[in-house]
Amino acid sequence: MTSILQAFSCADDYDPNSLPVDRARELILGLLSPVTGHERVFVRQALDRVLSDDVISPIDVPAHDNSAMDGWAVRFGDLATNAETRLKNIGTAFAGRAFEGKVGAGEAVRIMTGGVLPQGVDCVVIQEVTQVEGDAVIIPPGQRQGQNLRRAGEDLQAGRPAIPAGRKLRPAEIGIVASLGIGEVSVRRRVRVAIFSTGDELCSIGMPLAEGAVYDSNRYTLWGMLTRLGCEVIDMGVVRDDPAALEAAFREAAACSDAIITSGGVSVGEADFIKQLMAQLGEVAFWKIAMKPGRPMAFGRIQPDGADRPGAWLFGLPGNPVAVMVAFYQFVQPAILKLAGIEPVKPVPGFPARCVEPMKKGRGRTEFQRGILFQENGEWCVRPTGAQGSGVLRSMADADCFIVLEHERDKVAAGDTVMVQLMNGLV
Ligand code: AMP
Ligand code: MG
Repeated sequence: MTSILQAFSCADDYDPNSLPVDRARELILGLLSPVTGHERVFVRQALDRVLSDDVISPIDVPAHDNSAMDGWAVRFGDLATNAETRLKNIGTAFAGRAFEGKVGAGEAVRIMTGGVLPQGVDCVVIQEVTQVEGDAVIIPPGQRQGQNLRRAGEDLQAGRPAIPAGRKLRPAEIGIVASLGIGEVSVRRRVRVAIFSTGDELCSIGMPLAEGAVYDSNRYTLWGMLTRLGCEVIDMGVVRDDPAALEAAFREAAACSDAIITSGGVSVGEADFIKQLMAQLGEVAFWKIAMKPGRPMAFGRIQPDGADRPGAWLFGLPGNPVAVMVAFYQFVQPAILKLAGIEPVKPVPGFPARCVEPMKKGRGRTEFQRGILFQENGEWCVRPTGAQGSGVLRSMADADCFIVLEHERDKVAAGDTVMVQLMNGLV
């Protein structure tokens, strides 16, 4: 692999001391490629997995020409242009029970949605506009040839890709797989991610909280986000700010994972040995991202056994709990999607909302405030969740969106439009 640091420094706008969010994401994504290896799984187990090969349709969907509505199957050529037409009812076509005969001149077949179109028919008239008189049906003028029909192969054609490789299988895709009568698909293996927290002040659940200590929450938020992304998480616990312990942890993590995520120990004023160690065990860039929260970050590769051994990607996130989550969503999530084989990796969409409170903001960095959305007179509005400190995890828990204040943006006045990103999507 070409040197990471060399690759970065070739970019003319590369400034590790003030890297815009989008640029950092681009640099990261530019280096990653999907994990190799796949497995075959049953259709239900494929939910939220990433397809490794196109699903080729073995059949046409729909398999037959059929009716899109409840009504009457007729021959368009029989219908008068400007007057009612009286046709003879010769039978019925229900979904799953076809009309066997052929429809001749002056004849019609009662048809239900999904019913196979009888031979000779090229038009379905919805039942609501027709009138039945004994064994006749009266069709009003104004019909169109081919109306209310679904043609065989209209959705999917036999032999053609129905779902492309690189697609994450949501309920819609699971339904398509089932609609093709396919029971198993090939998916990429899960991305393996090792996580550990660093810091002498960290205390684990079950231990009494000593003076000056904090419970380790980052490993839990990271576990939650990674699990939701479908990763296999290797939780390595808390590692003390001790060079030997950290080196052992990095070696172990690099041997069993595709990516390592650490929290803490990358900010200015931290014990320098963490940086030295990361640099010594691989190739790592230390960045100050032009963002708040989440400014310091390390990114690179840990390859303790040399550059020709696989090793793992490293994301050294800051320690503050909100910074961890914001940096995760901005950089780690797209990186994991890329490693998982999702194609294309799209940015999280945003939409404008009216901010009902003023907010401070400095130019030259992107800020991710936490907000609560609500509707007022049909308009989407947002207000920040109280205190926005990067250690206030409650600001994340209370929020349902990020208020994204762009790099060049100045302060926000009450009533200004801001961009928001939803934290939740559809299931
Ligand atoms: P650091 O980046 O190591 O200087 O940590 C910054 C702040 O985040 C400190 O106040 C830490 O106590 C806090 N912090 C670091 N790691 C964790 C963690 N795993 N869980 C909760 N808080 C943390
Ligand atoms: Mg620390």
